[in-house]
Amino acid sequence: MPNAWHLVKRPNGMPTAADVELRAFDLPPLADGLVHVRNRWLSVDPYMRGRMNDVKSYVPPFQIGQPLEGGAVGEVVESRDPAFAPGDMVLHMMGWRDEEVVAASALNKLPAMPGVEPQAFLGNLGLTGGTAYFGLLEAASAKPGDIVFVSAAAGAVGSAVVQIAKARGMTVIGSAGGADKCAFVTELGADAVIDYKAGSLVKQLAAAAPDGIDVYFDNVGGDHLDAALALARKDARFAICGMIEGYNSGEPTQLRYIMRVIAMRIRLQGFIYTDYLPRLGDFYRDMGGWIASGQVKSRDTVVDGLEGTFDAFLGLFSGANTGKMLVRL
Ligand code: NAP
Repeated sequence: MPNAWHLVKRPNGMPTAADVELRAFDLPPLADGLVHVRNRWLSVDPYMRGRMNDVKSYVPPFQIGQPLEGGAVGEVVESRDPAFAPGDMVLHMMGWRDEEVVAASALNKLPAMPGVEPQAFLGNLGLTGGTAYFGLLEAASAKPGDIVFVSAAAGAVGSAVVQIAKARGMTVIGSAGGADKCAFVTELGADAVIDYKAGSLVKQLAAAAPDGIDVYFDNVGGDHLDAALALARKDARFAICGMIEGYNSGEPTQLRYIMRVIAMRIRLQGFIYTDYLPRLGDFYRDMGGWIASGQVKSRDTVVDGLEGTFDAFLGLFSGANTGKMLVRL
């Protein structure tokens, strides 16, 4: 019998085990145009916290009593669609479960890329790598020579930002929580690293970037955004990707330096990965090349078993992951 994590009530603050339940469910019959998929890898992502709230956003909220959804890579078991055959590896959005019957139109067959593992399509060749690529190069219009500051730099999106920025000739300052993560960010090629748990962000950023920053890639919001505002040079560009600091509290942070937006003509550009889907070809070309040349590397934090999925998700908010957080089934 297949099993899936269901939302049983909407979390208030940090989600708890009482908000979700792992339970069996029935698969629909395999009709024409449908494909039976057994999941191999599940993605857990910070944006899923927002989908647990009953608010209108760029993706609809999860429904109470229904399975949670998310990115997944699976293997076709049986197909009633000519485009898919048993053994095909596919990318789809029916995560948080071990198997599912999925419409063929909702599946993407993974391209065969030598040396690339299927789970890379949930990381550097998927949502998080694509978010880093389009956010840095398009939303922030980052260019060679820019001084780039990126928060959550040891995470999935942030680690890709560091490496893409270095591949494109930028100076990179990354922030992360704790010495081990900072060492990882240095390994990725960052020119300077800030441990935001070790002292004032503004002071540490001022020391790392005495002439200020041209680009800020925001994964965290709050004090990180404020420090970036404090150190922004004229015409700085901010890619506002995520604000994980506030996902559970829902509280906006006071921005002491927000008025510098005016004097320094700072551009704040929010964006969503899916805005750039028509340009995925550029992303696969460049990211595929960087991976093949070794300029972009992946480190995943892997949790084994469907039972661990909810804890893996919670771990995103306590910094339990270095690189992409994945569940292996
Ligand atoms: P991730 O960075 O791999 O994991 C989250 C990391 O955030 C944690 O490891 C932790 O690292 C850090 N963090 C958690 N709570 C924090 C806090 N209160 N203050 C500072 N840091 C905190 O996750 P991801 O998937 O790559 O996502 C990164 C950001 O991008 C998120 O904000 C996400 O919502 C956003 N995102 C946006 C889009 C888009 O289309 N706009 C797409 C994907 C992701 P430390 O241990 O270093 O604190």
